[in-house]
Amino acid sequence: MVDAQKRYLLPSLLQMKCPNCRKGRVFTTKHILPLNTCLQMHERCTECHVKFIKEQNPGYGINYVLTVMMLFLNLVWYYPIFGIRYDDNSLYYFLTVSVIITLLLQPWFMRLSRILFLYFTIYYHSYRK
Ligand SMILES: [Zn+2]
Repeated sequence: MVDAQKRYLLPSLLQMKCPNCRKGRVFTTKHILPLNTCLQMHERCTECHVKFIKEQNPGYGINYVLTVMMLFLNLVWYYPIFGIRYDDNSLYYFLTVSVIITLLLQPWFMRLSRILFLYFTIYYHSYRK
């Protein structure tokens, strides 16, 4: 069954849709709050019934990469605005701000890393009903 409307990779990935049909939802809740239900996933896709939960690795490695990447990506906006010098405490201010931002984004990163893991293992239209 191929539907007329093509569903693109990046919007589906950011909307946390199923990697197979890009229609069904992967997580049971739409938002990250409350935090204790943030990572609850459907066992199977609500649209195409592809199985999501099959391995014990839901993307921890990807989460680590995203976290380290974010710590350095904060340099992109922090350095032009505030600047970092060796002869004062500005490096420590940067590290504090960067860690706080990365921690605040962590629930979203955990979801995104699970979705990325699913997108690496399940391809578009690879399973049919
Ligand atoms: Zn699906």
